[in-house]
Amino acid sequence: MRARLILSIFLAFGFIGSVVAKPVTEAELRKHVEILASDDFEGRGPGTEGERKTLAYLESQWTKAGLKPAARDGSWYQPVDLVRRGPKQATVQFFAKGEKLRIVSDDILLVGKEAEYRADRLPALFVGHGVNAQGKVVADVKGKLAFLLADDAEFLPSEMKASRNRRLALVDAGAAGVVSISGEQFDFPLYRRAILSRPISWVARDKRADVEGAVSPQYMVALVTAAGGDWDKLRAAARSTDYAGQSLGLTVDLNVLSDVEPIRSNNIIGKFAGRKPDSGAVVLMGHWDHFGVCRPESDEDRICNGAVDNASGMAVLTEVAKRLGKAKFDRDIYFIGTTAEEYGLIGARAFAADPAVALDQIKVVLNVDTVAIAPKGAKVAIIGRGKTDLDADVEAIARKLKRKIEPSTDANAFLQRQDGWALTEKNVPALMVGGSFADLGKLEAFLKTDYHGPKDEVVDTLQLGGAAEDADLHVELGRYFADTRKYKPKKAEKGTGE
Ligand SMILES: [Zn+2]
Repeated sequence: MRARLILSIFLAFGFIGSVVAKPVTEAELRKHVEILASDDFEGRGPGTEGERKTLAYLESQWTKAGLKPAARDGSWYQPVDLVRRGPKQATVQFFAKGEKLRIVSDDILLVGKEAEYRADRLPALFVGHGVNAQGKVVADVKGKLAFLLADDAEFLPSEMKASRNRRLALVDAGAAGVVSISGEQFDFPLYRRAILSRPISWVARDKRADVEGAVSPQYMVALVTAAGGDWDKLRAAARSTDYAGQSLGLTVDLNVLSDVEPIRSNNIIGKFAGRKPDSGAVVLMGHWDHFGVCRPESDEDRICNGAVDNASGMAVLTEVAKRLGKAKFDRDIYFIGTTAEEYGLIGARAFAADPAVALDQIKVVLNVDTVAIAPKGAKVAIIGRGKTDLDADVEAIARKLKRKIEPSTDANAFLQRQDGWALTEKNVPALMVGGSFADLGKLEAFLKTDYHGPKDEVVDTLQLGGAAEDADLHVELGRYFADTRKYKPKKAEKGTGE
């Protein structure tokens, strides 16, 4: 009797590693989401007052959970240097045969690498799709302004389908400027919106020409016609696989003033020290950032609060930490909140480039993003299914919690759109596990409506049923992968990741 009484006391307080932790409730998650996605946190933009509040909140919650600061310098924070750029004012004057041209179109937006950029009589060149079928830059662009068709072409090699990579190839080849000509895949209003949103880049990978920007096809018609040429002919010639670019017979004077704002942002990193630190580490991660004040002053609701994306994930991580903090584990368990995921997984890439724990020590990364989509009872999908040898382990844990499994690899469509990818790229086994990606119809409905806009905010109908179940699942996954008797990696992870 006595033994049982003591055991039940232990059970009640959750002191024994092997007992099931107290389930995470929707109310607990909602509390965090309401704070992180409140207008007071200004949409959690990197480098803003919203970042300061977000990190202070997470630090206090994670400290309560028992996590200890674990960035490389012993603090909670890994600094990540960013730069935000947007257009301010530009004068653009083209010349043909020494004569000033008048272009009747305003569809041009230019942003400098530095705050002030001036160039006189810069030669202008039309480079078609920028590279040929072999992926080589089509012409000598050194010191010139290259006009690049953003649209994909059939002959382009797969790694050059994205106009971003062709732009970078032109920068590598020494182009002074690259101007993307909008097309069907990405039209000028989209470019305008993207450029005016003043996107953020990672200083460590900030490769760009002195001046970059976009024009509409109508602008090209006006420009080429004013110079006495025929845009349709130029455009048609660029379809040929051996197109070698063409001088536009133009030079241009540019005076481009830009907003260039350096930003110091941070990943937040904490850990539970394991009893056998040599046995490796488990990493749970999610991005804390969102788009901040994302709409012009004229809009009534200007804040992209990011309740689903990704206050929900940070809420889940925080409650998982509170459960895991009540027990001891063999392996270290790291918790990482990343910055600037929304601008290309920047914080996660910064962690992968300069990790607080050696990458070959990481047994698994579990990323948690956009979890407030599915209701209670959702199946468990795995982003990264088939890419590691961990699927069976994850499924067994999920089944233990009476969760059903989504067996397809459909969710892998999101593989490269989540922070785990920054680790997958470095051959670290990384998964995203949960209900949100099991019903892609529900997910797509969110992506097509409130996603990345001011309407992704705290509402009464915010769906946290699935998130609570996913939180419980991550508690069990953390316990399992951190236990050297339960989870024994098949072999030292090395090399190909096959
Ligand atoms: Zn997002």
